Amino acid sequence: MGKGSGVPLKEKPYPKVVYGSIKSNRKQPKSLPNEITIDQILQTLPKEVFETSNFRSFTSLLITILFIGLSITFINLVPSYLYPIGWMLMGASVTGLMVIGNDCIHKTFSNNSLVNSIIGTIVMLPLLYPFQSYKISEKNNTANKNKMEQFEINAIDNKSSNQDSYFRTWATGKFFWILSIINWAEKYFSVKNLSDKQDKSKAFASIVIVYIFGFIFFPMMIKFVGVSGFLNYWFAPWLILHFLLSTASLLPSIPFYEEIQQAAIADKNKKQNYLVHITYPQWFEFIVKDINFSLPRQIAVTIPHYNLRKAYQAFKKSWGEYIYECTFEMELFKELINRSQDFSNQIFSPFDVAPLVPKQPVDAPASTRPSRTVKEFLKAINWLHFGLLIGTPIIAIYGMLTVSLTWKTFVWTFIYYHMTGMGITAGYHRLWSHRAYSAKAPLRAALLIFGAGAVEGSCRWWCRDHRAHHRYIDTEKDPYSAHYGFWWSHFGWLMMKQDPKKIGRANIDDLNADPWIMWQHKNYLKIATFMGFIFPTLVAGFGWGDWAGGYFYSGVLRLVTVQHSTFMVNSLAHYLGDTPYDDNHTPKDSFVTAVLTFGEGYHNFHHEFPSDYRNAYKIYQYDPTKWLINILSYVGLAYNLKTFSDNEIQKGMLQMHEKHIAQKRESIYWGIKKEDLPSMTMEEFDQLVTKQNRKLIIINDNVLDVETFMNDHPGGLSYINMGIGKDATKMFTGEVYGHSNAAKNLLCQFSIATISNEKKDN
Ligand SMILES: [Zn+2]
Ligand SMILES: [Zn+2]
Repeated sequence: MGKGSGVPLKEKPYPKVVYGSIKSNRKQPKSLPNEITIDQILQTLPKEVFETSNFRSFTSLLITILFIGLSITFINLVPSYLYPIGWMLMGASVTGLMVIGNDCIHKTFSNNSLVNSIIGTIVMLPLLYPFQSYKISEKNNTANKNKMEQFEINAIDNKSSNQDSYFRTWATGKFFWILSIINWAEKYFSVKNLSDKQDKSKAFASIVIVYIFGFIFFPMMIKFVGVSGFLNYWFAPWLILHFLLSTASLLPSIPFYEEIQQAAIADKNKKQNYLVHITYPQWFEFIVKDINFSLPRQIAVTIPHYNLRKAYQAFKKSWGEYIYECTFEMELFKELINRSQDFSNQIFSPFDVAPLVPKQPVDAPASTRPSRTVKEFLKAINWLHFGLLIGTPIIAIYGMLTVSLTWKTFVWTFIYYHMTGMGITAGYHRLWSHRAYSAKAPLRAALLIFGAGAVEGSCRWWCRDHRAHHRYIDTEKDPYSAHYGFWWSHFGWLMMKQDPKKIGRANIDDLNADPWIMWQHKNYLKIATFMGFIFPTLVAGFGWGDWAGGYFYSGVLRLVTVQHSTFMVNSLAHYLGDTPYDDNHTPKDSFVTAVLTFGEGYHNFHHEFPSDYRNAYKIYQYDPTKWLINILSYVGLAYNLKTFSDNEIQKGMLQMHEKHIAQKRESIYWGIKKEDLPSMTMEEFDQLVTKQNRKLIIINDNVLDVETFMNDHPGGLSYINMGIGKDATKMFTGEVYGHSNAAKNLLCQFSIATISNEKKDN
């Protein structure tokens, strides 16, 4: 007899592996007990609902775009008295954008955070939501109120109701939905309350992007479709969006509003933790992507929207008694209008959610960039670079709108794009930064001249930064460290004045001693102006009389494209793709980046083996710069091509394989670890089986709860019944049937305790 055997069984509730089914009636549901943890709920949800699928995410996005297109077409075709239907259709469709944006914020759109950021920014722009600012606000929301044990189920948080604002008093009665607009205006366009410097600059940047978008988008819209077009295609649907967001987030707090308030008054610490689910018409649920299928917030945000319905259903199966479920009725809606003054000073975001933080979130290294006032910020901008980087795209767009492209100019633009681009990749990068091969004089001259045509600075300057980038990768001494964000490493670093003291030292004695390099460095401005703008114009002008096309397409547009292509080596190549050789740093291998960057996309390989003239190690990988160097070596212009030995490369690959297998192992749910299971005496086991009729079996000293599995047992119900209440180890391992590996694995998931004669203390 164990020393703790006096404890009555009731107080030691060995969990059931799957809980009973739902009883949905119109009574107030039970409040979720505080002892139940998020982990317990998570275990009742199928694993696959947490899996993100790029295909599904992008399909969902495409469908949203399609619906927006249909709505526009609808408004375009029908008489004006039917416009409101079009607005509603479009309002519901753009809610889909918001849902996708929300997925991006919680990183459930894609597993790739870059994709999440880009898509999130783009889909939220037309709705005028600054993505980063919204994301940070959600994050801080979490930090303030997230406790592992505390559930946030209802949309309204009673604690956060003290932010009074004059505007909020407007949001009453039938205008309750203005609350969402006020919230949008007040919450996401200010960085004052952000304490983290990095957050501040990110939020600020995203706010600036929204402003820039607004200043370009709306004038263009009014120019092309007029004020009525603006009202029909943007403003009215935007109001509908806020109406829907407000309704959907407030409605769940209506059915038991009084009860929740009274409970809060009676005991401030005790929250009513249950879920109100409102079912809407199916077509509506389809357009708004099932966001009404709510789960406890911490869990909901870890699930992509297309799995919400499935997850909700699994949740309902196990925790049905804590759900109130009803269909949308006008009565509820009327109540909402009558109650709206109660909500007017609430803060809420359209998807008022607090993400689940089961593990410590991984903190990015703290920003070392000093915080600046706007004045200091403006002072720190490198206006020459800024003007060039912002001005050239504007000139290119103007050219595209006013000058038509002839096929000769197109071909010339394409060729010159590659000539200048490879001047950077084969010249600046592989030849001079890394000394990956040697080049004869004519080739060196051509690479320096065409490289300057990309207008990315002199070779000497470029190599100096690039060598520092390799040497101090991902640290603050890295001039374009990927840890400061995608846009910083893309061209943000160019737009700001460089602090030479900050950038790590890199030896360029070899370049300083090279008269060719020094000649290009000293005459850089002249060469760049000529090769960047004048030369391509002259070729098209004298060649086939297309002076304007030569300037706008072969000159400016080509320049913009080449610049952004090569910038991607610093940005995209550190974000997108996988890490087959080493994952300690940010560089990645990706075919997409390779196509966009003349083959520099196998950047993981490149950072591992920088002096290898190849970026693409494998024969099927796309690396035109490598091919060019191969051809040049064949004709004798390039020689002494350096490669790392296969043996060294294989070592890195193998180590990464081993790491991936270990990670995969971690990611699979194998059941509760044996050492974490509570222990149970044989007597307790017998009591549970006989008195509580639990369907328990012992196999290898593990107590298994097989109740919900019995009917699915491949060997049939009767065999499993034979084992109930017994030690069935022998039956399991061969006496009746020698179970497979898969069966043994499955077994672990049903374990609720281990059998022991002596009880553990606690
Ligand atoms: Zn790099
Ligand atoms: Zn490099």
